[in-house]
Amino acid sequence: MICVSIARGRHRYMMAEHRHLVEQGAELVELRLDYIRRAVNVKRLLNNRPSPIIATCRRERDHGKWTKSERERLMLLRAAIADGADYVDLEEDIADQIPRYGQTKRIISYHNFEETPDDLLGLANRLASLDADIVKIATMAHDPHDNIRMLDMVKRAPVPTVGICMGELGTPTRLLTGRYGAPFSYATFHSERTLAPGQLSFHEMKEVYDYDRIGPQTSLYGVIADPIGHSYSPRIHNAAFRAAGIDAAYLPFRVPRHFLSSFFDDVPALGVRGLSVTIPHKESVLRLLTKVDKAADKIGAVNTVVFQDDGQIVGYNTDQKAAMASLLATPGLKGREAPLEGQQALVLGAGGVARAIVYGLVRHGAQVTIASRTLARAEDLAEQFNAKAVTWAERYGRRWDIVINGTPIGMHPNVEETPYEKQYLRRGMIVFDTVYNPENTLLIKEARAKECRVVTGIDMFVRQAALQFKLFTGQDAPRDVMRDEMRQATSPARRRSVG
Ligand code: NAP
Repeated sequence: MICVSIARGRHRYMMAEHRHLVEQGAELVELRLDYIRRAVNVKRLLNNRPSPIIATCRRERDHGKWTKSERERLMLLRAAIADGADYVDLEEDIADQIPRYGQTKRIISYHNFEETPDDLLGLANRLASLDADIVKIATMAHDPHDNIRMLDMVKRAPVPTVGICMGELGTPTRLLTGRYGAPFSYATFHSERTLAPGQLSFHEMKEVYDYDRIGPQTSLYGVIADPIGHSYSPRIHNAAFRAAGIDAAYLPFRVPRHFLSSFFDDVPALGVRGLSVTIPHKESVLRLLTKVDKAADKIGAVNTVVFQDDGQIVGYNTDQKAAMASLLATPGLKGREAPLEGQQALVLGAGGVARAIVYGLVRHGAQVTIASRTLARAEDLAEQFNAKAVTWAERYGRRWDIVINGTPIGMHPNVEETPYEKQYLRRGMIVFDTVYNPENTLLIKEARAKECRVVTGIDMFVRQAALQFKLFTGQDAPRDVMRDEMRQATSPARRRSVG
């Protein structure tokens, strides 16, 4: 179950939000009484409530809004119990000042915005001993391993316990606490109104992750990255699992560079079966694998890891296959034998994506030239794959059959930028922009206007994710579902509303 926290300054807004959430499927809400600006009237909030509620009133020192006296706060919490609140949240230090009464269940809570303490089970035992029906422990994560410690505590705690790590590093606990036995997890009403660091919105927990479905049998997958906030992968993989009827969940794991190796040590305990790998781990992950597929090895970068049942940890690069499949589906190339043989291809950029694309193009017999801001990087890449390197300024130096953007130029929010000026675009030329946010970059728009044949970054992104899905599950991916999800996620309207 998901408990949605409501924090509004006025009774009527709180009640309206409560009704709205229940209409959206919420089964439990937390009313944050400390946010109400005038005298709190608990009875008014409880009368005709559309779902059970938790009454919570947080002090400023616990990152709440309550500024009046502690005596008044305790009176308010006692009133909530007397008025029949379904649950009341009592911090550890006041638990023995507020006795049990009537049907109201007691949540004994502990918050630590600094760290995740060592002895979490000892803490849970201590809170449980304060006449707790439920224990809530929320602590700040500084290490991905804190997730494992928190979830292990949830599993072993003596009473039903909600264990959550705060901050982006702790997101997995918000999604997995129920899998380990927590009676519910917390969400916020809207992603722009989080009450604790790293909190997810009710909509995300429900629609993207389908939180209530994640049980002990659910197979887990995810993406490792740092930062993680921008990743669209959870949306499209979870949508694909749902459409294919597979009991699996795909989570965002923020893993800072120096925690990569210890994160891999934790994978068996977490039960993760496969990972998408992105910046900054695509190269460094290689040393943690027991097997690497030939293309990934040649490219020197892995974007997919599969943890096999026999203990092998296998790395793949689906960017390369996806980029080539996207390119070869272009009108005029599709169905032709050796369609790229002898074609003059310009690759802009010399980073991870460019490497994968250069490798693929050379294997298909194209004549590849790399132009990059840092000439030395282009030269290194060219030398490795038998291509040519030119300076960034020389990218207009000849008539190309294919131009591929492997730089982030044109990516949101810099949508007015293009890596290749329109006067150099020619009718019939193939223009492939790997940037997928937005799909219609300035380069793509200008190429269309010049009647070039275009390939978009969304096409490639969906193909690489579909190949990952196949590696993860052995089944063909529902590509149309993934594409729709990706288009929705990157639409400007959605970016405005959700951020
Ligand atoms: P990366 O390893 O950081 O490489 C970026 C490359 O772009 C570097 O060569 C960099 O030059 C160059 N660059 C960056 N800003 C530039 C500028 N203003 N002018 C000229 N060159 C510039 O990144 P990556 O992993 O290859 O990703 C690059 C882009 O590919 C991403 O932004 C994303 O949009 C796209 N991508 C698409 C997919 C997909 O499936 N469609 C998948 C992954 C990535 P320096 O060497 O000088 O730094």
